[in-house]
Amino acid sequence: MTIKKVVVIGSGTMGSGIAAHLCNANIPVTLLDLKTEISKQAREKIYKSRPPLLLDKSKINNIKVGNILDDFNTVKDADWVVEAVVERIDIKHDIYNKIFKERKKGAIVSSNTSSIPIKILSEKLTSEEKKDFCITHFFNPVRYMGLLEIVKNENNDLDKINSLKKFCEIELGKGAIVCNDTPGFLGNRIGVFAMQIAMTEAFKMKLTIEEADSIFGRPMGIPKTGVFGLYDLIGIDLMADVLKSFIKELPKNDPFQEVAKETSLVKKLIETGYTGRKGKGGFYRINKTGSTKVMEAINLETGKYSASKKINILSDKVDLKSLISRDDKFGEYAWSVISKIIKYASSLVPAITKNFNDIDEAMRLGFNWTKGPFEMLEEIGVENFFNKIDDFKGNTFLENLSKTKNQDFYGSRQKYTEIETLGKVKKKALSVDGNSSAQIYRFNDYNIVEFTTKANTLDYDSMDALKKATDKPLIIINESMQFSAGVNLTYTMDFADKGDIKSIEKFIRYFQETCKHLKYSDHPVVSAPSGLTLGGGFEVMVQSNFVASHTNIVVGLVETIVGLIPAGGGCKEMLARWLDTDEAKKDPHYAPLKVFDIIGYGRTATSPIEAEPMKYLKPEDKKIMNRNSLLEVSRKILDNNKAFKAPSEAKFNLPGKTVVEDMNKILEKLYNDKIILDHGLVVAQELAYVLSGGNTTIDKTLSEDDLFKLELDAFMRLVETKKTQERIKYTLLTGKPLVN
Ligand code: NAD
Repeated sequence: MTIKKVVVIGSGTMGSGIAAHLCNANIPVTLLDLKTEISKQAREKIYKSRPPLLLDKSKINNIKVGNILDDFNTVKDADWVVEAVVERIDIKHDIYNKIFKERKKGAIVSSNTSSIPIKILSEKLTSEEKKDFCITHFFNPVRYMGLLEIVKNENNDLDKINSLKKFCEIELGKGAIVCNDTPGFLGNRIGVFAMQIAMTEAFKMKLTIEEADSIFGRPMGIPKTGVFGLYDLIGIDLMADVLKSFIKELPKNDPFQEVAKETSLVKKLIETGYTGRKGKGGFYRINKTGSTKVMEAINLETGKYSASKKINILSDKVDLKSLISRDDKFGEYAWSVISKIIKYASSLVPAITKNFNDIDEAMRLGFNWTKGPFEMLEEIGVENFFNKIDDFKGNTFLENLSKTKNQDFYGSRQKYTEIETLGKVKKKALSVDGNSSAQIYRFNDYNIVEFTTKANTLDYDSMDALKKATDKPLIIINESMQFSAGVNLTYTMDFADKGDIKSIEKFIRYFQETCKHLKYSDHPVVSAPSGLTLGGGFEVMVQSNFVASHTNIVVGLVETIVGLIPAGGGCKEMLARWLDTDEAKKDPHYAPLKVFDIIGYGRTATSPIEAEPMKYLKPEDKKIMNRNSLLEVSRKILDNNKAFKAPSEAKFNLPGKTVVEDMNKILEKLYNDKIILDHGLVVAQELAYVLSGGNTTIDKTLSEDDLFKLELDAFMRLVETKKTQERIKYTLLTGKPLVN
């Protein structure tokens, strides 16, 4: 079975997300709705979406639109028809009736339902039709969420399910997990249960919502939105509908029933329009009085709002063992929530899947947890877990484990895929060295460096690990969401606050030295970025010899936004790339001006297709849809470069002050138009000086070290200014830029 054409029916949130992602995979797709006007508007929304659903906006018209009356004949040519209409069984049945009358023999038909079982969806189909009908449960936003649950039952043609899985894995880049037809499948069954446990335990233990969210978040390896924040984000009314469907579908004795009951507070919030972020607010709300905005949090007992309090639990690492053994309410809450999640998830094996590992992977891919329940159990330690846990009678998985007490019960990871992923390799690799910012693994004849800080921000230790790891061919790659959000600004500001400018300089020098080492060491270095690859993260990537990039990458040099300039080789490398163009050979001002525009505005690209025209990525860099494949592709690069020779050092001929004059004219206009203010001008002038080559003329040849020095000097002048420090502090506090 090959899938060459797809029709998606229903152009709401999910249908349009699926269509956009098929377009990303260059698969012709038609999007149908009740009226063409609706699907046309959906296409416009796709075009304007942020973060963008499309890798390449210019392909938008590859998504054809139409309506289910005039254009239903498009179904005839489709190899796969995806139904993504409203969650109403009567409407879905009607659609299937029409589809199966029209579809090409053998074409796959699937529903994106999140709650209706196949047995009900397919009850009116013939047994021949049932073979080709399944559920493909995508998550929102489709381009970015890794999980796709393919739900099958005993009537399915398994070869067809497997080839659909392969297609979704290879062409669409999804972590496609095949699962049984049980309520909520894997991700939502555990994910929603976990949210309900986190919520009910907070009520029981009389925690504030901020306290609960401070635990059911980063400390547990869960996104920082927490539980109440996530409720607000999803929509409190939508969550109520999801719970009603669980109550209806699950057996009466399922422990989920107990925690799914609607509370009077939730009922009141929905009735009064407090449905979350899309409504008047939810558990949190923003209260505007005059020109001030105050974030407020609800009191779970009284339902009254008051100013939200930041909770500091004095631990920023994910360390479950220490977390659950804390002798305070945070430890008690963490243990209560984690143990109940582990108990519930393990009670569902093998009913919802025979591979418990699939549950963990579904939680990673669908809910962005760093570890699923079984990995949490592994981390806590089997012995420790059974010493603490109360009753688990009837839970076969735990009963068996309690007998063997086998700490190595876990086995290999990511069983759902044949791809040799980083997760699998890490389990087999030797952990050869590491520090608090990065880990070095050795596998076969190469090293892997994985950054381990929050958003993988970089510091002295990260550089140390990179440098050490170049004693072998090296792959820089990680499992967490971001490749690296850049240099750790908190680390830099800590020195600045102490007036210890020397330490900042030492760090930047070491950063430069390490990046140069990556580029010129005897062994090849491959960077495999995904997610944020900004500032220093980009500099690490760009000074690696090879790149294998995921298609979901946000890449760029954004230092000017915080009042700095790239000083780890970012200016140098961008100049080198732009100098190597035909235009630059004719016009000495061309390259510095181009790079001035890109770095000056802190431009970012949200896909490789956007990154190439800015030269953040090169045409020969590998671009990969499936994040799981990044390691395999990187290994192949190393295999193909056994006879690697380090490149010869780049040389630079730059025009000096003549191009600064051009840049100043641009700045003058921006300043007069108040697009940049006083400090913006200072930063841009420093950048102009670096990119011009400093005190040079076009006939002089500069070395990489000359450019590193220009970068460092400008960086140091800027980091010492009060206004750059104000920018950094503001951004660290609010996540937003300060224009000063
Ligand atoms: P939505 O309300 O955003 O969109 C539904 C679309 O279906 C609308 O554009 C509507 O006009 C169209 N529609 C209704 N009746 C139709 C018909 N007879 N023929 C053609 N089009 C028709 O809904 P959604 O959030 O995109 O959800 C779609 C499906 O995906 C549902 O089954 C839902 O359970 C499931 N789902 C949703 C999410 C999510 O996060 N929103 C996630 C996973 C699964």
